[in-house]
Amino acid sequence: MHTVDLRIDPHWIVPVEPAGVVTGHALLVDAGRIVAIVPTAQADAQYTARESVVLPSHVVIPGLVNAHTHSAMTLMRGIADDVPLKPWLTEHIWPCEARFVSDDFVFDGTMLACAEMLRGGITTCNDMYFYPDAAARAYDAAGMRALIGMPILDFPTPYAADADAYLSRGLAARDAWKQSSLLTFALAPHAPYTVGDATFGKIVMYARQIDLPIQTHLAETRDEVAEARAATGVSPLARLDALGVTGPAFIAIHGVHLDAADIALLARQGCHVVHCPASNMKLASGVAPVAALLAGGVNVALGTDGAASNNRLDLFSEMRLASLLAKVTTMDAAVLPAATALAMATINGARALGLDAVTGSLAAGKEADIVAVDLSGAATLPVFDPVSHLVNVADRSDVSDVWVRGVRMLERGALVTLDEASILARTRSWQQKLAAHPVP
Ligand SMILES: [Zn+2]
Repeated sequence: MHTVDLRIDPHWIVPVEPAGVVTGHALLVDAGRIVAIVPTAQADAQYTARESVVLPSHVVIPGLVNAHTHSAMTLMRGIADDVPLKPWLTEHIWPCEARFVSDDFVFDGTMLACAEMLRGGITTCNDMYFYPDAAARAYDAAGMRALIGMPILDFPTPYAADADAYLSRGLAARDAWKQSSLLTFALAPHAPYTVGDATFGKIVMYARQIDLPIQTHLAETRDEVAEARAATGVSPLARLDALGVTGPAFIAIHGVHLDAADIALLARQGCHVVHCPASNMKLASGVAPVAALLAGGVNVALGTDGAASNNRLDLFSEMRLASLLAKVTTMDAAVLPAATALAMATINGARALGLDAVTGSLAAGKEADIVAVDLSGAATLPVFDPVSHLVNVADRSDVSDVWVRGVRMLERGALVTLDEASILARTRSWQQKLAAHPVP
């Protein structure tokens, strides 16, 4: 008999890799890792568990990976709706950030984001925001896994005066958290239109020297691409490629307005694209060519973007939107089936973040990032195909239990590692501050 920390007996297990659905199996976890997924009789015969969790009406899946967000922007949820990207940024978000964003703002906003994401089955996120050290403290306190982008802009903000200051503050945050096993870092130039060639050159140098991924918003709007082509003669992606930015550790966020040459370039260089369907719809940016990217062999993950342009950090709704948008834009109902949407929200996200050896699927040896979804409600029964249900039927409120690296984060709908009442109280106090000084 082997003694393990945890045994979970759900009705269904969807490991994502390999594809398909397993029933009559137990999932065994020890020291934060998945030990085995075996038939229940074998689990009975070979394993004793310190803790046993029986989930008779649940499907168990890998923790979801939110491959693009700005966590602290939860505090700006709903601050400016019904505005396209450019005025949304320049007239609403940037002035509000200049006035309010601080170390405290980012810590409190990121804690709120952790509470929202963990409740919705998200165990890993890819964050990009000011004060990455404050964000790291929040993820560490929550026990959530994150890739933290060090923000880089070519214009001053209260956080940093110039590109060198952004880089040195970001790298200092990374150094401070080097020992964390749940936190990794990336270079995060905001976008090709806010960062010049010289700064991209420095970013590439650091990325190569200390082996860091690079992520940036790319080809989000038609105007961005048209203006870049008018100024440089090439697409924003081709410009970044010429600067040495692209490669297997390059994460292109949005990728709404990519042409066939861009898609071929992304595939050739082994780059990743993060599709953010709700944000792209809300800001009227367009629909990313996801079916063409997948057909071209590009790894496509899913992200929520920030809560100010979504306005929720909910990968269940992103999976559903991604699937429906791909079908209606190609006029092909077979495009982007549920299993593909679920892979985008799990293993593809882990791959994009360079974390696929650690998370993204339920496999022996991987860390135990596990989510249980209860399918026994009036809105979810009957169940013929749990994978279809995860994308087409289930809601994030059906998430009952969440583990990160074997540690319980959510237990029968209640957050375990976070003091939710105090997070909500802090949020209400920020709400009062922001409401008292509306921008502009
Ligand atoms: Zn974004």
